[in-house]
Amino acid sequence: MSHIVPQPGILDIELYVSGKSTIDGVTDVVKLSSNENPLGPSEAAVEAHRRAGYELNRYPSSEHLSLRTAIADVHGLDVDRILMGAGSDEIIAFLCQAFAGPGDEVLYTEHGFSMYRVSALAAGATPVVAPECDRVTDVDALLAACTKNTKLVFIANPNNPTGTMIGGNEVARLAEGLPEQAILVLDGAYADYVEGFDGGASLVDMRDNVVMTRTFSKLYGLGGLRVGWGYGPKPIIDVLNRVRGPFNLTAPALAAAEAAIKDLPYVQKCRQENAKWRAWLAEALAEHGVPSDTSTANFILARFSDQQEAEACDDYLKSQGLIVRRVAGYGLPNCLRITVGDEASCRRVAHAVGQFKGGAR
Ligand code: PMP
Repeated sequence: MSHIVPQPGILDIELYVSGKSTIDGVTDVVKLSSNENPLGPSEAAVEAHRRAGYELNRYPSSEHLSLRTAIADVHGLDVDRILMGAGSDEIIAFLCQAFAGPGDEVLYTEHGFSMYRVSALAAGATPVVAPECDRVTDVDALLAACTKNTKLVFIANPNNPTGTMIGGNEVARLAEGLPEQAILVLDGAYADYVEGFDGGASLVDMRDNVVMTRTFSKLYGLGGLRVGWGYGPKPIIDVLNRVRGPFNLTAPALAAAEAAIKDLPYVQKCRQENAKWRAWLAEALAEHGVPSDTSTANFILARFSDQQEAEACDDYLKSQGLIVRRVAGYGLPNCLRITVGDEASCRRVAHAVGQFKGGAR
């Protein structure tokens, strides 16, 4: 028997299986399983990344001031209360490391993002799940699930994989009702897709128990570079900076993200294209008898009659070169999550779902 054992909780973490981008024997594959921007990053970001690549012998900035300033300018935030992470995954991990440990509870919703559980267990804390109401975050259920041990409460708004979101009043009611030792984390990975939405930044500014996380992986098309950020009260950001490694972001990633956030026309174009094709895809699927909730993000949660039908449709889509995401692991076995691709991909998916429903399997 080995004497080398991991910390309690670590073996409860399921190994992450990432989505494939190829299908054996099928050419012309489209990956619609990871909510990536089908238009790719801004050309300015690609160029900034290339230029930063000439100085790879140099360590990157540890304070990320230039990028934080650009973020603060675009969103109208206080630069000193922004913290950069290697993806927003890393900010989630910092929050759990710094604020939750053995005996503490980390609360999130039934169909919440998988990293809340992983980071809670990695910190030795206990993950606690509150039910949703028809695939929508239920503030009353979250408040009812709070205990004296609740240290962190995560909600994604919009939520992944449901695509639904709750209004500002509901989010404020949640922040207000939490026990005093708990921090509310507003995960805004998909907030950029909602025209005019600040992701909860104004609530962060009003309270001492709310943190917002954001990412460059979705609308900005930079998932491959791992850039995320958090915004919160100064005392909380100061704590998170203590657990952050000094060089947690690479120089090319910092340069690309800064160029990307400054390219406002491109960001707006991506947002509009997503909204247009999301509406088109939802309607086309509904016409084929596959309903979905109103999505506010860059994907659609397509609902089938049961798990068997969802899996059969997934298999059929695969045979047609289309990779979408099964979400049984999120407690949604009768659903498939389909990223809103470009026009051609949306038309291909709708056509294939139509063929499947028409008996082409
Ligand atoms: N939060 C949610 C809700 C997500 O869906 C994702 C990505 N799938 C993330 C956070 C993490 O994104 P990243 O680490 O790429 O910033």
